[in-house]
Amino acid sequence: DPRIKAISDAIRVVPHFPKKGIMFQDITTLLLDQKAFRYTVDIFVDRYRDKKISVVAGVEARGFIFGPPIALAIGAKFVPLRKPKKLPGEVISESYVLEYGTDCLEMHVGAVQPGERVLIVDDLVATGGTLSAAIRLLERARAEVVECACVIGLPFVKGNWKLNGVPLYVLVEPR
Ligand code: 5GP
Repeated sequence: DPRIKAISDAIRVVPHFPKKGIMFQDITTLLLDQKAFRYTVDIFVDRYRDKKISVVAGVEARGFIFGPPIALAIGAKFVPLRKPKKLPGEVISESYVLEYGTDCLEMHVGAVQPGERVLIVDDLVATGGTLSAAIRLLERARAEVVECACVIGLPFVKGNWKLNGVPLYVLVEPR
């Protein structure tokens, strides 16, 4: 698929951000490239449009960029999975381990109904810790997580990684 190369080429790699030794994958340059941004959304929409998905859940913050256009195109609602203390209503929380310390994702109670089929969207998967917490949140709400979709995936997770038994779909590897 020639669209994959256009997407990969539009992602900027920034060495030593946010700290020394990290090769940061910057998707803001992908958003500046209208063609590549559209290809990204189109590939996901083609994959998920006939899968009876009624919820797209996006992980803060960059899942809020790719999730909503996919949700609108496949006729699903969008549910934000947010960092702690951002959502005003009653929430359920799931914490996850980072390189240093822990972080947490929250979801509004009642945003998802039991049995709903959900797609989880984020920009990048590295260890899978963030997506695993997202899956636990949705499963606690008794939703069915159909798949996790990311623009970028580290090679060791790409294709053959399952998160709590949930399949993972990624478009490109980091350069
Ligand atoms: P994981 O939990 O899989 O180890 O890390 C994935 C999370 O970290 C995602 O929410 C992603 O947005 C963020 N992340 C980690 N490294 C990068 C990076 O190089 N570029 C971008 N855009 N996000 C990153």
